[in-house]
Amino acid sequence: MGAIVERRLHEPESQTDDPQGQPEQDLEHLRTAFLKPYEELLGQVALARAADIYALYPVLRPPSSNGKEGVPQIVLAANDYLGLSYDPRVREAAREAIAEFGSSRCSSPLAGGSTRLHVELEDGLKSFLQQEAVALFASGYQANVGVVSALMQPGDLILTDLFNHASIIDGARLSGADIRVFQHNRHTHLESLLKRERQSRRVLVIVEGIYSADGDIVKLPEIVEVAHRYGALVMIDEAHSFGVLGRGGRGAAEHFDMLHDVDLIMGTMSKSLASIGGFIVGNQALLDVVRHNARSLIFSAAAPPASVAAAGRALQIIDSEPERRERLWDNAHFMLDGLKTRGFRVMGSETPVIPMLVGDQVRTMEVTVRLREKGVLVCPAIPPMVQAHRSRIRAHVTAAHDRNSLTRALDILEEVGSALGLCSVPDSEQSDPPLRSIVQG
Ligand code: PMP
Repeated sequence: MGAIVERRLHEPESQTDDPQGQPEQDLEHLRTAFLKPYEELLGQVALARAADIYALYPVLRPPSSNGKEGVPQIVLAANDYLGLSYDPRVREAAREAIAEFGSSRCSSPLAGGSTRLHVELEDGLKSFLQQEAVALFASGYQANVGVVSALMQPGDLILTDLFNHASIIDGARLSGADIRVFQHNRHTHLESLLKRERQSRRVLVIVEGIYSADGDIVKLPEIVEVAHRYGALVMIDEAHSFGVLGRGGRGAAEHFDMLHDVDLIMGTMSKSLASIGGFIVGNQALLDVVRHNARSLIFSAAAPPASVAAAGRALQIIDSEPERRERLWDNAHFMLDGLKTRGFRVMGSETPVIPMLVGDQVRTMEVTVRLREKGVLVCPAIPPMVQAHRSRIRAHVTAAHDRNSLTRALDILEEVGSALGLCSVPDSEQSDPPLRSIVQG
């Protein structure tokens, strides 16, 4: 049986064997052999399953509430920064949209997937971000993949921050352009790459507003200045900074008063906008190319009306209730201070995205499970999200958390953290990973 499998996989000429009537065990072996490159991964999955790691509570309730079996639950694992996903106005908007437009348009935006609600959200985002044009996608991931691959071509050059999100890397790879990675948030390294690699090519520099891995803020003025001086355009992914940074919640571009200096602003609806979907804004010509060239937009169904309506309502609330952002930042500072005092390594975070370095992926999952048992839900970040030795748990603070629950979360984190040695990771483990590892995947 094993021999048959070996033959089928390694000796193509043997495929002339009649596959009809192959016994079930043979198929099983065939599949096992097919998965050989994933043996290690599957071993880890088996361990994780045995440790009950996948049994997260089926529903992430509001940030502080009673979870399963009455354990008070504090959710630090959702990107709902302004606490709008349970807002009655947002929920009502989604309900009304379903009543009027159904559960889905079941077609792509260009083929009838867009409704009045999509157009209203487009207009809302355009004017909120003070831009000429906009395109909506069904997710933030699709927005990055679609935009980067629509605008860049083989022979062009993409310069991407070391810590940029996977969707940016995937879009860059799909474009066929050359990719170079610059050291995290270092405009001097960006400049040396531009000097050496630009030649006379089209160049796009891509950064994030708040980096999802480390929770630090982009050094936008320096990066834009260097990029434009060398004739490169700049795209910023504001996934974690939209609603969070800037006087009006417009993101890092507003925070640095550079809304008109960056060339493309990308955002997702799955965080502060309390929904799901993605968007890109910029000038008309850039957006015309995106709308007609982005395959993840053209060949995929439009975001459902309920999601679009929820995001539209959330956008109005972001615009009219700045006190939510104030509460969010109060909470973020409270949590950051509390964690640092307790000896956690927050890896340079200065925002509501707060990593705590663990430095080992198995231990990261162990910490996640222990915290979960005590009612604190955090996000584990392990490969492929980060390199194994930079594995961490991540807490996302929101405007909806209250001080009591954050204090309780800090106490529990301290209890579990000190039991598992979380507060004593050596400094060397915080250094940047080698640059090539990211693009090579
Ligand atoms: N960009 C960044 C920086 C992100 O963190 C994420 C998701 N975490 C995305 C893009 C993708 O967004 P979405 O989940 O809406 O697809």
